[in-house]
Amino acid sequence: MNEDDAEQIANLLMQMGYSQTDSPEEADVAMLVTCSVREKPEDKAKSMLGRLRDIKSERPGMIIGVCGCMAQREGEKLKRGRPYLDLVIGTANIWQIPDLIRQVQARRRFTSALDLPETSSDPLTTPTRIDREGDALKSFVPVMYGCNNFCAYCVVPYVRGRERSRPLDEIVLEIHDLARKGRREVTLLGQNVNSYGSTLDTKVDFADLLRAVSAVPGIERIRFTTSHPKDLSDRLIDAMRELQNVCEHIHLAVQSGDDEVLRRMNRKYTSAHYRERVAALRAAVPDIAITTDFLVGFPGETEEQFQNTIRLAEDIRFDAAFMFAYNVIPNTAAEKMDGQLTRSEKNERLGRLIEVQNRITCEINSSQIGNVYEVLVEGVSPKDKRRITGLTRQNKTVNFKGNPDMVGKMVKVRALEGHLYGFVGELVEVCEPVCA
Ligand code: SF4
Repeated sequence: MNEDDAEQIANLLMQMGYSQTDSPEEADVAMLVTCSVREKPEDKAKSMLGRLRDIKSERPGMIIGVCGCMAQREGEKLKRGRPYLDLVIGTANIWQIPDLIRQVQARRRFTSALDLPETSSDPLTTPTRIDREGDALKSFVPVMYGCNNFCAYCVVPYVRGRERSRPLDEIVLEIHDLARKGRREVTLLGQNVNSYGSTLDTKVDFADLLRAVSAVPGIERIRFTTSHPKDLSDRLIDAMRELQNVCEHIHLAVQSGDDEVLRRMNRKYTSAHYRERVAALRAAVPDIAITTDFLVGFPGETEEQFQNTIRLAEDIRFDAAFMFAYNVIPNTAAEKMDGQLTRSEKNERLGRLIEVQNRITCEINSSQIGNVYEVLVEGVSPKDKRRITGLTRQNKTVNFKGNPDMVGKMVKVRALEGHLYGFVGELVEVCEPVCA
């Protein structure tokens, strides 16, 4: 979601006549897109603000703004002790950036915009997308904003507001436009795409949306993120099985393998429900890759409860996982819970889970050596300039020897080595326009 916010902000600034630079030292406007999901990203954003302050001392006309979840959470408090800060912009106010910049330029005075929709029926304002050179392959498309789930550890419903879905027709029109401009892959974005449509007057759900997007000519790959296990319906699984251009990958955050921890997290499903949904997905789409999020060391988590998480990881054998130790986030329900674990207890458990999951990921990828995968070539490998890189439909990275002019093409690659990140492979064929 933050990547999409950053793209929307860049688009709005380019409509004002700015161009992008990779060097903060050259920037006339610097907008930080921030994250509050853990302490570390907030610390990083604050340290980046210090760096921008130093740059601004050499370039006094520079405009510095903070956007995203930390801006929404801290609001005008961010200005305290930061006289160089010009703008604080909430998650639902991005579209106002051009006006806010003009106000700062005219008055050289600190400005903020922090209105958050309080109900699901509040209007949505989606900035218009404009094209940048080099955006040839794929796009994020937000289909909904906000979240109504209030998981006990999460700040999202407080900083991104209540769940609001975009109308289906508007999304499909946008994707037709992207396809006409050469995009081959779209990722439908939302905090919980599985509940798409529940706030709309028309009766549509995420399966309907997938079917409508699948019918857009030219879109060869459809991905979506993120899915909530409690809302993963049979209708959606049927759509995933039937629609050829929906990729064989789902990110389905489990967080814990223990029912009591899941209850206190307010996740609204049990580990048995989760296991049953994974079985249904694998029965419908046999080559699906399933990835997840784990949160260990939630308040009150006992060693036995943590062992249930390890057991679930061993049983399900996820293709990959994002794994985190619980951090207190201010203003969430979990902040006030008893039984907070020490940092070293949490890190020790996290280390054990990482060891288990990384072994499983490597085992799965090694077991797939010899398979041939369709890969959309995205660029030169950042780690090895002699190789090019792309993603399989299962969302696994493949690096292989090839020609940079293959970037943007669909190719077939045989997996030769399995690694934690994916595969090293060899080119089998370039199959334009579409792999058979
Ligand atoms: S589903 Fe839970 S974890 Fe995900 S954004 Fe909503 S409240 Fe946060």
